[in-house]
Amino acid sequence: MSSLTHLQTIVPPGLRCSHLWGGVVELPSTQKVEVYPVELYLCQHNDMDSPVTAQFSRVDTIDAVLQEARRQFEVPPEDETRVWVKNSDGSCERLRNIHMTVLDACLSTGQVVIMETRNKDGTWPSSRPHVMRNSVEDEELYRGQPGVCGLTNLGNTCFMNSAFQCLSNVPPLTEYFLNNHYLGELNFSNPLGMKGEIAEAYADLVKQAWSGHHRAIVPRMFKTKVGHFASQFLGYQQHDAQELLSFLLDGLHEDLNRVKRKEYVELRDAAGRPDEEVAEEAWRNHKRRNDSIIVDIFHGLFKSTLVCPACGKVSVTFDPFCYLSVPLPVSQERAMELFFVYMDPSRKPQQHRVVVPKAGKVLDLCLALAKHTGVPAEQMMVADVFSHRFYKLYQVDEALSCILDRDDIFVYEVAGGLAEPGGALVLPVYLRERAPPRDGDPGYGVVLFGHPLLVSVPRSQLSWDALYGLLLERLSSMTLPPPQVDEEEEAPGEGPASQAEEGSSGGSGGPPTLSPPQATPPPTANRPKRKCRRRRPLFTVRPVNANGTSERPALPGEGFSVNPRDSPLWGGALGPPPDSPVPRQGYVKHECMGHVQRRQPVKLRECVELFTTVETLEEENPWYCPTCKRHQLATKKLDLWALPEVLIIHLKRFSYTRLAREKLDTLVEFPIRDLDFSDFIIKPRADVAPAPHKYDLIAVSNHYGSLRDGHCMQGAGAVGWLGGRG
Ligand SMILES: [Zn+2]
Repeated sequence: MSSLTHLQTIVPPGLRCSHLWGGVVELPSTQKVEVYPVELYLCQHNDMDSPVTAQFSRVDTIDAVLQEARRQFEVPPEDETRVWVKNSDGSCERLRNIHMTVLDACLSTGQVVIMETRNKDGTWPSSRPHVMRNSVEDEELYRGQPGVCGLTNLGNTCFMNSAFQCLSNVPPLTEYFLNNHYLGELNFSNPLGMKGEIAEAYADLVKQAWSGHHRAIVPRMFKTKVGHFASQFLGYQQHDAQELLSFLLDGLHEDLNRVKRKEYVELRDAAGRPDEEVAEEAWRNHKRRNDSIIVDIFHGLFKSTLVCPACGKVSVTFDPFCYLSVPLPVSQERAMELFFVYMDPSRKPQQHRVVVPKAGKVLDLCLALAKHTGVPAEQMMVADVFSHRFYKLYQVDEALSCILDRDDIFVYEVAGGLAEPGGALVLPVYLRERAPPRDGDPGYGVVLFGHPLLVSVPRSQLSWDALYGLLLERLSSMTLPPPQVDEEEEAPGEGPASQAEEGSSGGSGGPPTLSPPQATPPPTANRPKRKCRRRRPLFTVRPVNANGTSERPALPGEGFSVNPRDSPLWGGALGPPPDSPVPRQGYVKHECMGHVQRRQPVKLRECVELFTTVETLEEENPWYCPTCKRHQLATKKLDLWALPEVLIIHLKRFSYTRLAREKLDTLVEFPIRDLDFSDFIIKPRADVAPAPHKYDLIAVSNHYGSLRDGHCMQGAGAVGWLGGRG
């Protein structure tokens, strides 16, 4: 002590203790002689009224405090304990870092330290609400098979539960937590970690699931911690199970990283050195910064080779991986369902399923349909029908990717030779009827019904009469013959469509619509009248806009351009008399609908082969060639160098296109035992103790559902694959 450069006596404030207690306390800048120890009150969580006092040096660790408490309260060695300090305001704070000193934890004499013992069911007394006390006892009595334990869905948390179930069935990882090896490796100072909280929350969950005392557990604390550190998981939205698994493995790794201070590691270029040397160096560098149970179990190494197309520069790197994200072979074809509407009014619309190239054009759809129907592709028009209206009319050179699977596609047969001078026009026709009367509403409005039509009209027949006749024929399958009535006629020669002319601006030059007939006949004025028998019109024709909602002529540029050359824009609406029992449109299924789409399952091998296939980088993601000093679309090849003890395979089921993301539901087949990777490993095999290249399946996260079904219990997600070989 004589050699000390600086001596100071520490007398804790308010201390009555008088006995001298020798020791030297090291502080960052000075060394101090500790005269008085820190005296703490130790008590148990379930018995706060009988504390014992114990004295500690300021350089003692929290672990020493914990061990003293365990000794005092005679805790059996197999029981797990942790300590809390009671603050002056009555609140309690976990002393999480047991390696911390009494001094660093700011413990001072007179403070109460509470020891908590983990319940037999894996829970901590402090984390269970008191109202649950009865059910705690129930659960303590329950004896089930450890590990066979459900997780309560907290609302769209199935992705989390699914990932947890997989991970908690990885034997070496679960043993690591159950045997408390994690306690000594918690990394409280890693800025990339979560201060040990994710690891602890995960450990709590594992201990509960493997206690054998639960049929199901509530992962609420775990979810809170996950959401706290990765805000994307905070709410109750659906997520990808693989996304969560990836976060969890990373969080566990950093929380349990044995490297407390990450040194800077400069990466060297392979520069033609042998693979073994470069790979060994890469792994060593990885371990200098990353060393944890997760690395021990899950990390492997792959080789990445880039070749510059311009100068031939070869760049080799070896990169660690925590899981393999393998692509699925994407089908170049696509099955589309649609309705085909013949010009022949006696034929009902047909539902078809056609197989078309995914990257094809609308013309490919027509060509495929031509084979089913016998109608030439050039006599087809393709429309997206939505809510009884034309949402869009497609040109034949438009990409099929514009059409989503959920769109209602109608293909219409139209007359040939549309583009020829004097050829037919194509009129879009909507069907309307009077809205049924409702409470207090006599029903003056009109509503659309059925599917709209595209009607070919020869230019020679562009009159109201001719149009009426054409539509009457076209709609014959939906209408009854009009009743014959005696009427006084204004003048001879006027056709049934005379009433249709009211509302239109001028004979054949104006756009027609169809509407229910007027009840009141037009004024007869001074015309001579005569009696005759004639059929009353079933409907009237009126111009409407593209929505079919207002009775006015559509303007050029509004709505649909149906004839690429010179046709005016037309709209139409038709309604049967409200009291007539008009049959609604029906459709028939073409035989192609009966063919079950035979989907070829894919072998997992093929996915791994794809992973290791040479690819050329895309425009958006070029490689900077150090020789050319510019970005190049290099070729890239990945190879597997070293595989981990437990291999996670992630099937990339999401395919991203410009318009939408697509979920590939291709069935992937894999062996339950002996999945052999020998052919994929490029590292030369050592003769002695060859590394295991075969895996048995231990867990699958098959987390599926439609992308749009937020409420689907299974939800959207990826399929993961975990393998292990003992
Ligand atoms: Zn180059």
